[in-house]
Amino acid sequence: MSTIQSQVSLQPFHTFGMDVKAKWLAAFNTLSELAQCIKSPEFASGPHLVLGGGSNVLFREDFPGMVLLNRIKGVRCVSEDEQAYYVEVGAGESWHEFVLKSIEEGWFGFENLSLIPGSVGAAPMQNIGAYGVELKDRFHSLKALHIASGALHSFDKQACEFGYRESVFKRRFRDQYIIVEVSFRLLKEPEFRTDYGDITAQLERSGIRELSAKAISDAIIAIRQSKLPDPKLLGNAGSFFKNPEVEQELALAIQAQYPNLSFYPLENGRVKLAAAWLIDQAGWKGKTFGRYGVHKNQALVLVNYGAATGREIFDLSEKIMADIQSKFGVQLEREVNIY
Ligand code: FAD
Ligand code: NAP
Repeated sequence: MSTIQSQVSLQPFHTFGMDVKAKWLAAFNTLSELAQCIKSPEFASGPHLVLGGGSNVLFREDFPGMVLLNRIKGVRCVSEDEQAYYVEVGAGESWHEFVLKSIEEGWFGFENLSLIPGSVGAAPMQNIGAYGVELKDRFHSLKALHIASGALHSFDKQACEFGYRESVFKRRFRDQYIIVEVSFRLLKEPEFRTDYGDITAQLERSGIRELSAKAISDAIIAIRQSKLPDPKLLGNAGSFFKNPEVEQELALAIQAQYPNLSFYPLENGRVKLAAAWLIDQAGWKGKTFGRYGVHKNQALVLVNYGAATGREIFDLSEKIMADIQSKFGVQLEREVNIY
């Protein structure tokens, strides 16, 4: 049985590091512990929130209900076919540790998603992606507890309604399900993707002649460590905003004024702009406001230098969004989950 604690600081449980409190806090290691938690009077008394690594959340204030910490573990290869291994992973496993294990085992497909913080269970929530690969590319299915009925439901890829940093769990089914296990279909033969961002340049810098999953993973780890703030040292939740999707006409109009704007065509005929470029161009990159600001190397990352409040970070995001709208006519959307 999980212990339910009251008035607990959430500072160790989220990467922005604000000292906000949860009215109630409980951790679960198994499905039956989770079932007990959701049957408790404390759970019923207010809102709830499940956290993995807390690397994609911003708390503007104390959380007035129960925060559940997902600690369900286990990585099992359960079957295989000619092309792939089917691997079931407990939702409380660390995403990056799972990627490292899959590389060691020769299960290919997630090497480009190395060093993304957080848990396996939160990864489908926003269909995590980096360097041209998304979780959905190697996703098979997941199991999630339906909170209202206590039933365990299975979701295949279609049912998850994955999109760019999106899924049904972030939209229609928000707060209705707790993901407890995720299954992947990982390849027996590699299909390496090195054409994105600085991967090739980094491989060359490291003198890599023979491509391997480990070499790509190491290259991505090196790039990320050089560009992104380590949340253990500087509070942040990665990219605060999504890359906006706009009509090509708008992108061309911006490009007429700013010839160095690059954009990327999407399958639906629209184009993707780099939000970091817009924020940088508008003069926000590296700006500090005492105890918070915009990171100096990556304009998408808002940082807490130590004692910022969630409200200050949220208000900064509002100002950036208004400025980008007025300068470029582009509406930015937050990627981070706000509480
Ligand atoms: P949490 O922050 O704990 O939760 C995020 C949301 O998911 C919350 O709304 C929470 O309630 C919900 N949730 C969590 N677990 C479950 C569950 N089991 N069932 C249902 N809902 C759940 N993201 C990318 O996509 N690509 C990147 O390259 C990337 N790089 C990052 C780099 C840094 C330095 C940081 C700090 C973040 C980065 N992120 C990136 C964002 C983040 O790491 C991912 O979104 C990650 O999947 C969040 O996992 P988590 O366990 O920390 O989620
Ligand atoms: P980058 O390589 O400097 O690229 C800048 C932007 O251009 C990225 O946002 C990326 O879009 C886009 N891009 C680059 N090459 C592309 C291509 N060949 N086709 C289509 N789009 C392309 O980006 P970065 O900031 O260093 O990040 C590297 C990767 O890690 C990116 O995929 C980024 O999304 C991911 N990342 C995510 C977070 C997060 O919290 N979500 C944090 C850090 C890094 P996409 O973002 O759509 O890939």
